[in-house]
Amino acid sequence: MGKAWHQNSETETLLAHKTNIEKGLSDTEVTALVLKHGDNRLHNFKRKSAFRILLSQFADLLVIILMIAAVISAFLGEPEDTIAIIAIVILNALLGFIQEYRAERSMEALKALSTPIAKVKRMGKFIEIPTYQIVPGDIVALEAGQFIPADLRILKSTQLGVDESSLTGESNTINKTTEAIPHESLPIADQKNMAFKGTMVTSGNAIGIVVSTGMNTELGKIANLLKEEVEVNTPLQNKMARFAKLLTIVVIGICIVIFATGFFRGEDPVLMFMTALSLAVAGIPEALPAVITVTLALGARAMGRNNSLVRKLPAVESLGAVTYICTDKTGTLTQNRMEVQNFSLDGKTLCTIPEVISPNTSWDYILKNLALNNNVSFDENQKALGEPTEIALAQAAIEVDFDRLNLENELPRIAELPFSSDRGMMTTIHRSKSSHLILSKGAPEKLFPLCKTWLNKDKGESFSADSQASAIESMAAKGYRILALAYNELPLSTTEISIEHAETDLVFLGLVALMDPPRSEAKEAVRLSKSAGIHVVMITGDHPATAKSIAKDLNIITSDTDLVMTGQELSKITDIELKKIIHNIKVYARVAPEQKIYIVKALQSSGEIVAMTGDGVNDAPALRSADVGVSMGKGGTDVAREASHIILLDDNFATIVLAIKEGRRIYDNIRKFVRFALSGNSGEVLTLFLAPFLGLPIPLLPIHILWINLVTDGFPGIALGTELAEKNIMERPPRSPKESLFARGLWQHTVWVGFLTAGLTLGIVAWAKNQGIEHWQTMGFTVLTLTQLGHVMAIRSESLSLFTLGIRTNKALWITVLMTFIVHLAVLYLPAMNKVFKTSPLSFFELALCVVVSSPVFISVEIEKWFQRNI
Ligand code: ATP
Repeated sequence: MGKAWHQNSETETLLAHKTNIEKGLSDTEVTALVLKHGDNRLHNFKRKSAFRILLSQFADLLVIILMIAAVISAFLGEPEDTIAIIAIVILNALLGFIQEYRAERSMEALKALSTPIAKVKRMGKFIEIPTYQIVPGDIVALEAGQFIPADLRILKSTQLGVDESSLTGESNTINKTTEAIPHESLPIADQKNMAFKGTMVTSGNAIGIVVSTGMNTELGKIANLLKEEVEVNTPLQNKMARFAKLLTIVVIGICIVIFATGFFRGEDPVLMFMTALSLAVAGIPEALPAVITVTLALGARAMGRNNSLVRKLPAVESLGAVTYICTDKTGTLTQNRMEVQNFSLDGKTLCTIPEVISPNTSWDYILKNLALNNNVSFDENQKALGEPTEIALAQAAIEVDFDRLNLENELPRIAELPFSSDRGMMTTIHRSKSSHLILSKGAPEKLFPLCKTWLNKDKGESFSADSQASAIESMAAKGYRILALAYNELPLSTTEISIEHAETDLVFLGLVALMDPPRSEAKEAVRLSKSAGIHVVMITGDHPATAKSIAKDLNIITSDTDLVMTGQELSKITDIELKKIIHNIKVYARVAPEQKIYIVKALQSSGEIVAMTGDGVNDAPALRSADVGVSMGKGGTDVAREASHIILLDDNFATIVLAIKEGRRIYDNIRKFVRFALSGNSGEVLTLFLAPFLGLPIPLLPIHILWINLVTDGFPGIALGTELAEKNIMERPPRSPKESLFARGLWQHTVWVGFLTAGLTLGIVAWAKNQGIEHWQTMGFTVLTLTQLGHVMAIRSESLSLFTLGIRTNKALWITVLMTFIVHLAVLYLPAMNKVFKTSPLSFFELALCVVVSSPVFISVEIEKWFQRNI
């Protein structure tokens, strides 16, 4: 066996893969390598097969008993009955199957959309590709916050720190190196020149060559041992499952009573048994938890189409209850399309880059700084890849012919002290013919303490750091993002420049101001949030004055009582003091990512439901603790995405507000569905339960019960789930998170509508019997069916009248209602159907009477809504 990859030198590894660091692989090489190695995916996830989903529909105990009972009764009575019942049960199962299958597949499609991206060198350029397209031999760039996409041998490392706990179980950061390690068999944790798939970069950056992909990686070898992420149920799903269990017991109790009373009154015991069983199947809301899942999953899919990708289903539910949105500024509220506006070299006047730049002047160093102190690269279409701040700086330099690629021959980079939000600055070290050039840029507060020389090199004027303060304030108040620039030159004889000392005794060069305009849609989204009772708070790493200016622009800050708090102030304040003013703080500026979790917790302990955005590695804990953690699809890191509940594909604040609206709509629709299903069930159960006490025979046959459950309740019920958002959905306050699904009159509605339905059905049965009409049962069946149709139309909104909602807003519902009515007419008037359903044709007068008798349900629900609206 040859050497292990960690024993090979960088050059040996490159040679073994017939590639080099400048060029990377060519397209033809990639095609061959894909054929040889397959794609870079782990194949351990099992998808639920369609057959398994179908089978699970029949796994319901009651359904099985019903099928068996139907078969037995076929031998005792009429086989048509049995066939009809079995057909209905199968149809029911199919309906369940279609719904669940759709939900499963939409969740899968959502997962597939969130595939991570990697920066890979192909044909001499870095390009971004989905990580599953990586092949052995690819040159990959790594940066902080990324999950390592394959097993790599590190070729270049800038203080690369990797958390390998997912593989080794040990959570301390491993600092990676590039030199070959001679020892033959080394545990993963000691292979310091290797980086492994699935582990994450916590700091620094690096370039590595892929040595294995997919199932051949260390992670792949243990993939079968990895547990699949268990999907957690949402609180609503759990509550519903518990409620369904309780209701099952109640319904079974009622069924026993119905069976017993019928039996003792001398009714046919077989018929009584079938009636009780059918009622149990129809009355038990076993499908409710499933319907909630389906509604949430389909809602998640709809959100995906609107640029918010749901990673965890419970988020859909929490979104509807959000009371606080804590959002980043850069890129989320602003366009992240930065542009250098001007400079200040002396802290007084603002200026732009001069046309002529003489060597060794301040401008010469400034432009070298802009050009060289960044990690921007260009893809084959000359599109700049990298951080927008750095792209803007690099671009400003390129415009006056200071291009990193040209300059790097003259001033090759020998080291980098990378940027992190905590450090707030970045330094690169370059070697020239005569000296070591140190270039630093960063937030003024971070850079100033490291500067020793305050001198306008060109004018020979010296000045103090304090004199810069007013320049910074006035630039920031205009909304500019400000960076300070500095440099240092050390003689070449200082062969060993220690990293710690590189950022000391710097020479201050000047300030650069960048403009990042607010997104045009952000202002409207802030207004919408406010009208929906949701507070918007900006949390940013930027300067407080810059943040305040943008916050004012967007109406996040509107009055003098609205406060801006800095990270420094936040670290000094006590919990009690913070709680007192927390509702006035609209902007947190110069906040370290670690402080975000503190803000989330403080808000949560004041009873708020918090949606929090984040994009960096250190944002992960806050994203996890927030009720809805929101990460960025474009600019964010893998780590933040992994920790979040939803991903904004367009990084846009307005999308969060849209998602909240969608969350509210989904919750509303779940309530509507539950309201409809439970009222329908209570109507049917009460009709059968009360009949004997009123001296009436069993008003419905088993097949009627099953039919109403499947067709009359089933299809319109599903169509209710597609109801659009109500007009006032973003004008009402968020629902209380403690609120039960049955709050705001839902259970009372279920009870009174149930009694009314049962009263009307039994009323027509009693009247018809009294009149000597033989088909009293058909009339009872018809009234019950029509009440359901009237009800579903009335509860399309909890408060708005049907006439305000209009016909066009839920076509699916109108179609299902119309179809159900037509099918019911077929059941009444087609002889073949009469035989199966034991119905007889009604006269026109009788049909009209049924319509009139069933209408009070519709009318009284409209009256209930009138009260809702007006009182
Ligand atoms: P937000 O949290 O709203 O996205 P932000 O992007 O401004 O805010 P950070 O990226 O943490 O927050 O930046 C904080 C500060 O660090 C900036 O105001 C800027 O002064 C400085 N800075 C940003 N990017 C760089 C960089 N690449 N190199 C050096 N300094 C930087």
